[in-house]
Amino acid sequence: MNDIKVAVIMPLSGCNMFCNFCVTDDDFDCVSFEQAVSMLKYVGELGIKNVVFGGGEPFFWPHNIIRLCEKAKELGFIVQTGTNATKLPQGYEKLPCIDRFVIPVESADEKIHNSMRFFPNGHYSVVMDCLKRLRAKAKAVTVSTVVTNSNIAGLEGLADFLRGYDDGHIHAWHLYRFIPKGRGGLMNAAELAPAFDAYASACENIKAMDLPFHVFKRADMYNSKTVEFFRMEKGIIRTSAEFSK
Ligand code: SF4
Repeated sequence: MNDIKVAVIMPLSGCNMFCNFCVTDDDFDCVSFEQAVSMLKYVGELGIKNVVFGGGEPFFWPHNIIRLCEKAKELGFIVQTGTNATKLPQGYEKLPCIDRFVIPVESADEKIHNSMRFFPNGHYSVVMDCLKRLRAKAKAVTVSTVVTNSNIAGLEGLADFLRGYDDGHIHAWHLYRFIPKGRGGLMNAAELAPAFDAYASACENIKAMDLPFHVFKRADMYNSKTVEFFRMEKGIIRTSAEFSK
């Protein structure tokens, strides 16, 4: 664990959306507030200083994710939330307990984004509104994109869009390779999985664009040298190599 810089803590698997590539399993614990704090302390003891609350959808967690972010700040962490942006409370862009929001943008093409992320009346407009609000308050953003056969051809267009948005507020852009796991990924693998070479070459093209923020190629998110995932299964903290699925 010595090289791990970022802990993704997953307090629940539940979500109010369905994305056709979703890598999350349905069957790990929705932890209590006290269990979530014990997870924070556990990763702190491992020397990790940077946490991302993920899931599932962390703002769908029934035990107050903002209170948990405040607790994480109190414990000295840099705090991020990885959210689909559909359940953010009023004034979220000004919350001092969240240092960065991790926001998913799959494509600069609204139809393609919405075809990957199902949400009543469309998810793209929710994300665009969120990005606008965060930029207005100079809140830092990490953008995440899951690269599938649906959006791979439009990645350079998305890069151009993000370059226009940036204005110094994008901390990084993560290009995740689709993984055939979880409640969406498993059932849609045949349709969505790009060949590794196609994914690698798309990422190289993006890196060659010399964007004004870091671009990370995440070929296997669950096998990273610097990021580890933590969730509870039957009350026991598990890392990604120990996940039951
Ligand atoms: S990928 Fe979609 S369905 Fe899965 S947790 Fe994120 S928002 Fe929810």
